[in-house]
Amino acid sequence: MRLVILGGPGAGKGTQGKLLCDTLAIPWIATGEIFRRAIAADTPLGNQAKPYVEQGELVPDSIAIEFIRDRLSQPDAAQGWLLDGYPRTAFQAEELDFLLQDMGQRLDWAIWLDAPVEVLMQRSLERSRDDDAPQIVRRRIDLFHQRTIPITGYYKPQDKLLRVDSDRPPEVVQEDLLARLKAPQT
Ligand code: AMP
Repeated sequence: MRLVILGGPGAGKGTQGKLLCDTLAIPWIATGEIFRRAIAADTPLGNQAKPYVEQGELVPDSIAIEFIRDRLSQPDAAQGWLLDGYPRTAFQAEELDFLLQDMGQRLDWAIWLDAPVEVLMQRSLERSRDDDAPQIVRRRIDLFHQRTIPITGYYKPQDKLLRVDSDRPPEVVQEDLLARLKAPQT
């Protein structure tokens, strides 16, 4: 199965994404996590991403798209994957479709973990990552509204959007998600 999981910072993308990947036996590809590791390891990708990630800004589309193109052509991604944190912009969503067309593949579902902004704020502040400082979280939530929520309008007409209420305990969200993936009602 080929899935993307969308949601603001603190929506539970990582938790839900990893659980789904275990159940479906597909790789979890989390761009934010990969960028953070690359920054810590001081790699060329890390150096490119660093100024943006540290400020809560989006890494330029060109860098993100190039990275995904390379990652999805790795052998472990041949049979399916879950992208966590990608696409982040409508442009990235379109580019993903072009890439998949080239590869003779298609996306199955775009999962949207929906939670009120206060919940996103509170959950993010409870974590202790460098990019979870209050001012940076606020910026990330703003960008989520400006750049990422519009992506739902891209997937909805394609009947690929699976909206899930993520303001519930993680195990309830996961159960709901698995049930919906088996018998989707968008
Ligand atoms: P996340 O862990 O998904 O919240 O991502 C952490 C940070 O990585 C974001 O605030 C962005 O700076 C960067 N990032 C992750 N994914 C993308 C993407 N698809 N496009 C641009 N920037 C991204």
